[in-house]
Amino acid sequence: MRERQFIDKIRDRFGGHSPFLLQGIGDDCAVFTETDSTACWLVSTDLLVENVHFLFDCHDPALLGRKSIAVNISDVAAMGGKPLFCLLSLVLPPSLQEEWLENWWNGVQTILDQYGCLLIGGDTSQGDCLTISVMVVGRTQQGRVLYRSGAGIGEDIYVSGTLGASAAGLEMLKKNIVSAEYESLRMAHLDPEPQVEIGCALGESGVITAMQDISDGIATDLSHICQASGIGATIEADALPFPPGLQSFCRKNNLDARKLALFGGEDYQLLFTALPGNRKELEKVAAHLGRTFYRVGFTTKGDGKVFLRSGEDILDITYRGFEHSSSAEADEDE
Ligand code: ADP
Ligand code: MG
Repeated sequence: MRERQFIDKIRDRFGGHSPFLLQGIGDDCAVFTETDSTACWLVSTDLLVENVHFLFDCHDPALLGRKSIAVNISDVAAMGGKPLFCLLSLVLPPSLQEEWLENWWNGVQTILDQYGCLLIGGDTSQGDCLTISVMVVGRTQQGRVLYRSGAGIGEDIYVSGTLGASAAGLEMLKKNIVSAEYESLRMAHLDPEPQVEIGCALGESGVITAMQDISDGIATDLSHICQASGIGATIEADALPFPPGLQSFCRKNNLDARKLALFGGEDYQLLFTALPGNRKELEKVAAHLGRTFYRVGFTTKGDGKVFLRSGEDILDITYRGFEHSSSAEADEDE
């Protein structure tokens, strides 16, 4: 069973209602509130399993500590919120070295400090396989939350930064490629940066219709927005923004930069939609942050399908990203 079908089944079975719940299963975070308050809480949890989500032998423990928290903070950023608290549960194999764990905790501490997020609880157990479960709690105002489901037809699609670096970095780790020239690609994979400042600014801007973070590749993550919003989308292949070094790295290593950017995942940039009439406003937001937002496509009528347009060619890339569930490899042959 595919990851999304698995989650759909859970949602069908447990998707209940509550006056306090604004969004349950199906977005980057669950959103709940007090009925008499304009503020709301964002909650998300993620699981990192040794050699499924990270390569134990390749990942520096301090950077893994940072990444364990970063991927959760990214989900709060993706809803337009600020992370405040986190809970951390660990399954530790007896063979794990104390020094490794100490370094891992150091990484956790640096990223929590960096984002002003407090560790408030968790759980610890022994087991065969190193497993890290993080839950993060964030906050924002109800009117600023950005859901996956708000996109309409005829809107622009943006990404908050370049795509493909993390997937290239993963290739370097797997193939043991060491190169000062491509160090930024390796680091993009080992130490990704959650886009909290951008997420909050976009939430405040009032012009974004839908948003999510890019954890599984833009092909899959845009499919989530399209399905939740009941629309379709087209990505312009030539508009995909590559980070410095990606194309030369790919040429040298017989890889396709475009595929890494579309299907690779773990870039943790934000993916969002807005009406074309708001382009100037978004340029201002980006300039204020000293960042560039890249317009990569547009939304259309459609039933959740995402297409890639390259010259005359149109390719269906719906859900062709990375999945972690048992049956799911990067499914380019689907
Ligand atoms: P993300 O990649 O943004 O972390 P996921 O694809 O993991 O999001 O999850 C999509 C949605 O499904 C989220 O709302 C998440 O909380 C929910 N979900 C995933 N796994 C489970 C589970 N085992 N039980 C309940 N909800 C789940
Ligand atoms: Mg997410």
